[in-house]
Amino acid sequence: MNGLGIINGLIVTLKNFVRKPFTVSYPEQRIAQHPRFRGQEFTWYIERCTGCASCAKFCPLGIIRIVTHPGGQTPAEGDSYAIDAFDIDLGRCMYCGLCVEACPYDALFMGSGFEEARYRRKDLVITVDRLRDAEKHPSTWFRPQLEAQKYDPRKSGPMSWKGAGREPWPYHLPHRPEKEGAAQEETKA
Ligand code: SF4
Ligand code: SF4
Repeated sequence: MNGLGIINGLIVTLKNFVRKPFTVSYPEQRIAQHPRFRGQEFTWYIERCTGCASCAKFCPLGIIRIVTHPGGQTPAEGDSYAIDAFDIDLGRCMYCGLCVEACPYDALFMGSGFEEARYRRKDLVITVDRLRDAEKHPSTWFRPQLEAQKYDPRKSGPMSWKGAGREPWPYHLPHRPEKEGAAQEETKA
């Protein structure tokens, strides 16, 4: 019956009219974000990075560019690489997180941000300088040590390289005895 169909349609309309909206008025309002959110900007700790390039090799899109050279600082004890470039092309990233999964040293984390609009695609490439100097708000995605601390990147403030990893020592910096001692002292402080 046509009349009944119209009434049913109006009932559906009225129900939705009084229902609480699912949407919010962004940017004035924001919904709570899960700590495991895989955000755009990535978090990278140079202190923990060895320059092994596992992250770049595992990226299915090949959008991480790493350039290193032998550090030349502790050749007698086993040298470490110095990192010249570490760029990620966000414009092509699909936020799969495989690069983070592949990092054996807890140096790379997904970020927690999502506001990265730019006018030019080339401005979406984040460089080593930006990664190194950024305030660190790592996502807890694939990082159980952060979840164990109940870390929330949007509420808990910046996370230091010592707190972010499973081990509290730097991998990238030369492991000379005096340096390692200093790092351990720093960790205790
Ligand atoms: S999140 Fe995925 S696509 Fe993006 S850089 Fe990492 S591995 Fe590559
Ligand atoms: S971020 Fe991790 S996987 Fe990538 S080069 Fe550094 S240590 Fe290796």
